[in-house]
Amino acid sequence: MGESVNPLADLRYAATVPRIPEHAEPPNGRLADRLGRPLRDLRISVTDRCNFRCTYCMPKEVFDRDYRFLPHKSLLTFEEITRIARLFIAHGVHKVRLTGGEPLLRKDIEALVAQLAQLRTAAGERLDIAVTTNGSLLERKAHALHEAGLERITVSLDALDESVFQRMNDVGFAAADVLRGIDAALAAGIARVKINMVVKRGTNDREIVPLARHVRERYGRRAALRFIEYMDVGASNGWRMDEVLPSAEVRARLAAVFALEPLEATARGETAQRWRYADGAGEVGFVSSVTQAFCRDCNRARLSTEGKLFLCLFATHGHDLRALLRGGASDEDIAAAIGLVWRGREDRYSELRSAAQPGAGGGSRRVEMHYIGG
Ligand code: SAM
Ligand code: SF4
Ligand code: SF4
Repeated sequence: MGESVNPLADLRYAATVPRIPEHAEPPNGRLADRLGRPLRDLRISVTDRCNFRCTYCMPKEVFDRDYRFLPHKSLLTFEEITRIARLFIAHGVHKVRLTGGEPLLRKDIEALVAQLAQLRTAAGERLDIAVTTNGSLLERKAHALHEAGLERITVSLDALDESVFQRMNDVGFAAADVLRGIDAALAAGIARVKINMVVKRGTNDREIVPLARHVRERYGRRAALRFIEYMDVGASNGWRMDEVLPSAEVRARLAAVFALEPLEATARGETAQRWRYADGAGEVGFVSSVTQAFCRDCNRARLSTEGKLFLCLFATHGHDLRALLRGGASDEDIAAAIGLVWRGREDRYSELRSAAQPGAGGGSRRVEMHYIGG
């Protein structure tokens, strides 16, 4: 095992078993944390493995042949994931996003989607299920995912230009294949498609306008492109503030070519600021986690591949729900434990980072994005 791996591996195991309170009210869908934020969105990492080595997420030097990914028995089973999701829903969650690692690498992922699609929110509505994927297996999987009940997908694509894209994913995967995956998702009937582009200044910022033009012309209103500020997640990507291209600049570059109009947010806690093309050819979004922190409305919890609950993307320790599941705790007890953890939450890393020096914050000991999901 390479030496550089040790601190990361340690961090994966930094978790405590949550306490089960003695007299807890049953969940009523109105759980709020210390800053009054509800719990609405659960992101579940279904695998820590990936077939890409994006330089900003799983750089090859760290995630090499010696890197020890989680053993299969550590992973939550689909039944365990569905049980936990049901308890989160009782607390107010109405949206679940499957992520990773690369979620489509998890065997029979569509079976998990089908199980989750059976769940209903406290108000009796269907659960909003989404998947975030690098698109490499999407052409093959789109139909089965839609059949299982998937109506929403986010595909990451950082460039249209093959040499730029292949340098970024660092395994030589073709942008044309990701585009074929997007086509397949739309053809299968997955109605809500988003495309995420992480922008790194000096690496792929010249791709902003070409990619926007392509998405506009090819998909129009059927897919929305979102520009993501390069974030200081994890401890292995060598993040530097000067490589962040602020959303305001991305928008200015687009506005120099296309007329844009702002859109109202549709939901509280929405991560992207949305704009539409004035000629009606669809919309674009900007996720500005670095330059405009949105912690105040953050209603997202994250469940790691091995069942640890993280309250923030930048958290330094998790809450081991798998220990409760496999220790024989009842639904009531696990729900009560989740309630206690969320009530104590006061995380707002990005806001604190903005208030301090750019790039300052929790130091380098942070959990990796491929492990808790984006
Ligand atoms: N493998 C899937 C994918 O790439 O879509 C899902 C997991 S990936 C961790 C989820 C999202 O996080 C992707 O859109 C990816 O581009 C984004 N991401 C990863 N590292 C990032 C970073 N340092 N800054 C901003 N976004 C990042
Ligand atoms: Fe894999 Fe997604 Fe991370 Fe890229 S961003 S390395 S595709 S998990
Ligand atoms: Fe939520 Fe943490 Fe991101 Fe703030 S930094 S928006 S609290 S995940």
